[in-house]
Amino acid sequence: MSWKHSAWRTLARTREALGVRARPGLRVLGYHCVGAPLPGDPYGLAVAPAAFERQMELVAYGQFGRAVPLGGARLDGGAEIAVTFDDGYQDVLRTAAPTLVRLGLPFTVCVTPGLLDAGRPHLAWDELSELGRINGCEIGAHGLTHARLDRLDDAALAVELSGSRQRLEDALGRAVRVMTWPHGAASRRAAAAAKAAGFARAACSLYGVNAPGRDPLLLQRVEITGFDGERDFVGKCSGAWDWFALRQGDPASR
Ligand SMILES: [Zn+2]
Repeated sequence: MSWKHSAWRTLARTREALGVRARPGLRVLGYHCVGAPLPGDPYGLAVAPAAFERQMELVAYGQFGRAVPLGGARLDGGAEIAVTFDDGYQDVLRTAAPTLVRLGLPFTVCVTPGLLDAGRPHLAWDELSELGRINGCEIGAHGLTHARLDRLDDAALAVELSGSRQRLEDALGRAVRVMTWPHGAASRRAAAAAKAAGFARAACSLYGVNAPGRDPLLLQRVEITGFDGERDFVGKCSGAWDWFALRQGDPASR
């Protein structure tokens, strides 16, 4: 864990001590993989299976709101929580999904066709189909090649958005209407393009809770990492880490 993460944790705990509470709304949790740490990963992308199981038990307990898939959120100001995974790691199928199914929690897995083509540690295409058949599992897109979509011109952006949706729909045989922004990188222009490409919901990486009126193509999301203890997790679900948005900048203002 870096000194930065330690400093962020201290700020979050200060907010807890001050009793700062987030507004209700849709809280979106962002995960990558659930398993052993990835080689050379400074970001803590892998959450240990035992920690993930405990986190999901807390979500299933209901204290953070009604558990919903990203596409099924009402976004009406009621307390909702969505569990999302980016990139399409293989252990989402083998390790995370069984826990989520056991607890009856819906979840959303946003995958990048280009990463699936590249193989391990990402899902193979037949494994994606297997994941898509799990009751409660929603499949979304995460770009076609994992490029930063906010930096592309309109034509390249349309290829990434429509291309990812088309490839996933062809593989799954059903509509794909949700996505997450690769690298969390989005803008108002990119959001408008995502809507035009047929997406109804998209989440970025801006910390915070989604109140009514938030652009559904620029939904805020908190990232859960392998560095997070249970108290960090509860804080992230309860708004103690939402100050982090101040150092990120809102894509809705770009
Ligand atoms: Zn990604």
